[in-house]
Amino acid sequence: MLTFTELGLSPNLLKGIEDLEFKKPTPIQEKIIPIIFSSENDIIGLAQTGTGKTAAYGLPIIQNIDFEDNSVQALILSPTRELCMQIAGDMVKYSKHIKGFEVVAVYGGASIENQIRALKKGAHVIVATPGRMLDLIKRRAAKIDKIRTVVLDEADEMLNMGFREDLDSILETTPKAKRTFLFSATMPEEVARISKNYMQNATTVTIGTQNSGAENVKHIYYQVHARNRYLVLKRIADYNPDIYGIVFCRTRMETKEVADKLIKDGYNADALHGDLSQSQRDHVMKRFRERTLQMLVATDVAARGIDVSDISHVINYNLPDDLDVYTHRSGRTGRADKSGISISIVNYREKSKIPSIEKAIKKKMERQPVPNGNEICQRQLFKMIDKMEKVEVDELQIAPFMDVVNKKLEWLSKEDVIKHFVSLEFNRFLEYYKNAPDLNEKDSDKYDDGGGRGRSDRGDRRSRSDRGGRSERNDRGERGERGERSGRENRSDSYNRSDRGERTDRGDRQDRGERTERRRPEKGGYVRFFINVGKKDKLLPKNIIGLVNDYAKDRDINIGEIDMKDSFSFFEVGEKHAEKVLSSFKDGNYKGRKIVVEQAEAVGSSKKKKVRTKRGK
Ligand code: ADP
Ligand code: MG
Repeated sequence: MLTFTELGLSPNLLKGIEDLEFKKPTPIQEKIIPIIFSSENDIIGLAQTGTGKTAAYGLPIIQNIDFEDNSVQALILSPTRELCMQIAGDMVKYSKHIKGFEVVAVYGGASIENQIRALKKGAHVIVATPGRMLDLIKRRAAKIDKIRTVVLDEADEMLNMGFREDLDSILETTPKAKRTFLFSATMPEEVARISKNYMQNATTVTIGTQNSGAENVKHIYYQVHARNRYLVLKRIADYNPDIYGIVFCRTRMETKEVADKLIKDGYNADALHGDLSQSQRDHVMKRFRERTLQMLVATDVAARGIDVSDISHVINYNLPDDLDVYTHRSGRTGRADKSGISISIVNYREKSKIPSIEKAIKKKMERQPVPNGNEICQRQLFKMIDKMEKVEVDELQIAPFMDVVNKKLEWLSKEDVIKHFVSLEFNRFLEYYKNAPDLNEKDSDKYDDGGGRGRSDRGDRRSRSDRGGRSERNDRGERGERGERSGRENRSDSYNRSDRGERTDRGDRQDRGERTERRRPEKGGYVRFFINVGKKDKLLPKNIIGLVNDYAKDRDINIGEIDMKDSFSFFEVGEKHAEKVLSSFKDGNYKGRKIVVEQAEAVGSSKKKKVRTKRGK
């Protein structure tokens, strides 16, 4: 075990580290820092999030800066705006005691002019999202011909988000004589390709699942009917009154729905997804960091890489198809020697994914019964009593009032006082969970929601849960107050037309690319695209087909469902041709107006099937 001093860091950096209260290097820091200092090799670092990668490359980069030289000396590429800001912020902290060090973060979705201005003032290090970086290079606002180091942070995620071509273009403009450090949680083919094409003599450093996170995470699942997911989520929240967690959903749509319901029901929750503006996202994240929000409902991409410590629960609202996604999600909790719980809400159909997840995490996922009403009441009651026990009593201040209070309560015994006090807070809670149904799905209940029919107890169950779903929280004043609701209304509308229009007019492709989540399309399916022309432009679905064929210069493109709206539309393209179609529209225009095409939320699997059968006829 080496110390930071033994790793050869300069006294001023050590001071910065001390200010941050980093006691000893993390395993990846211990391995990578000496390689950077003692060799000229490129590095491939394979490690999960939360292992301390930023300091592993960031500290040596700062130490190696030549302060005589005012050109950009290192470029750090990372997938999202949030991560760029986080990395740049970390570099500022490390370099607190180093005079003159300048780092500038540039990313899409923010004014490019301001970023150009910041770059003009000079930067030793640029932290950038690939799209915006390429844009700045093209505008000659960022010069990277003298860089000595390039870092690809979260390379797998950058590629997932469709930055492949941008990365290629950027890397091609960097000087030959430089070092490349690539960090990735996984090593899919695409990442291997990048490392093969752009790296030489790379040393690979793998930090297994030693990520302290994974060790301390307990994995449990509740098996329930899909239609009860939301009720189960509420039970999870009620059973864990101190919950500080992230609820992962598959789509932006679902994220919004779940968050809206939670807010309506009085929980401290909000949504984080790609349809929010940057300032809305920043606001949500700020409240989550400050713990004003207890539950962040998020898509995987939106929550990726965000470094929030002390997350108590990760909740999988449904199980992801991709094992890596599950690992990433559960890695958000259980950090820094704290314990965490990853809870999955699973229906009968999803259950088959569990064995492969268990294999990937090398741990068992334990099935637990959904907490019942009684258990929840007990927990809540305990929390309340505990709070009462621990409340600070200011003898002096309350003394003058105690006479009256005591007199008024004279007729009650001590036991009665407690009972009254408990009931005062608790009656509504008891009322809600009285007769609460058993939400556990039996393995014998093979019917699922949605299609399920004819079960004699079904109508009954549903009405009961519905009643719970709606009325329960509205009458619990204290929760309602806590849930902040201001400003939500403007946000809830998906694909809000004017919103899309605005972005379109701004027209900066890279901007949008970074803000919009791109999901990995599923094998053999369709990819759904948004296009900024619609019925108002006097177009019919066949014209959309025509546009796609014309732009892609290919008549064999498999076009799926077309959904025309007034001023914009959606169309689906067979996965095979999706990339081609997307890039062919790059400089497209329709009657003099710039055409904007971007990937929309992927359609759910059931819908996808429908499309296929329709076309199969
Ligand atoms: P990664 O990039 O691997 O996901 P980060 O670099 O964001 O991880 O670090 C994760 C968290 O760990 C951050 O909050 C960071 O401040 C903290 N951290 C990093 N190195 C150390 C260290 N040596 N000791 C204590 N905390 C650390
Ligand atoms: Mg990182």
